[in-house]
Amino acid sequence: MRKKIVAGNWKMNLDYNEGLGLFSEIINMIKDEVTGTQEAIICSPFIHTHSLAQMAKGYTKVSLGAQNAHQAEAGAYTGEISAKMIKSVGAAYVILGHSERRQYFGENNELLAKKTDTVLKNDLHPIFCIGETLQEREANKHFDVIRTQLVEGIFHLDAAQFSKLVLAYEPVWAIGTGVTATSDQAQEIHEFIRKEIAAKYNQEVADATTILYGGSCNPKNAPELFAQPDIDGGLIGGASLKSRDFVDILKVFN
Ligand code: 13P
Repeated sequence: MRKKIVAGNWKMNLDYNEGLGLFSEIINMIKDEVTGTQEAIICSPFIHTHSLAQMAKGYTKVSLGAQNAHQAEAGAYTGEISAKMIKSVGAAYVILGHSERRQYFGENNELLAKKTDTVLKNDLHPIFCIGETLQEREANKHFDVIRTQLVEGIFHLDAAQFSKLVLAYEPVWAIGTGVTATSDQAQEIHEFIRKEIAAKYNQEVADATTILYGGSCNPKNAPELFAQPDIDGGLIGGASLKSRDFVDILKVFN
């Protein structure tokens, strides 16, 4: 069976000490309370990653991730962070294509395809985000938008590379708004994504792909969302900043 994952995206929150404090709470709760085979991934700001990876040693259910990586291997790109650097401090995952990167930093599918290649080359797993805006949904374009994001962003990969990806469906209108997609709305898109993967690769690859839901996910709505056949966990923003909430979401898979 495919992996069940709950990933926390801390975004640009928490200074160094706050981050270490929250992480320490999270790993202790996981040690005591999580009984299944699910995996927690904490995608912190880069500043925290090395220390969190040290703290996570011995905790097999906890991995670290970054929230972005540059598309080049190295070079004169002041202020940027490379996939190799991320790998070297002990992270295993990198979020790519988050709607905030697409919206505020002009990241398009073409750039994200390059970032995906670089991240994979450095033996990291992309958590590749896709999702439509409210405007696109209201214009009934959501399936087309998502198909294009898949085709232009990641469908150039061969099946072996593709199998290293985690996908995340995050409807932009549900991010940080308190408005969650209903479990039916989310399932409909997750099923569509899985069918697209099966059509491009094969059913085996599609069945093995973990597809997370993100957007105002919390301990209350997670059980119904995660009970859907094509929803394999969550990518959590706001609720990942509270240890109790994050671990309660993870425990849906106990
Ligand atoms: P919220 O859970 O705060 O809506 O954020 C979702 C998200 O963007 C995770 O990447």
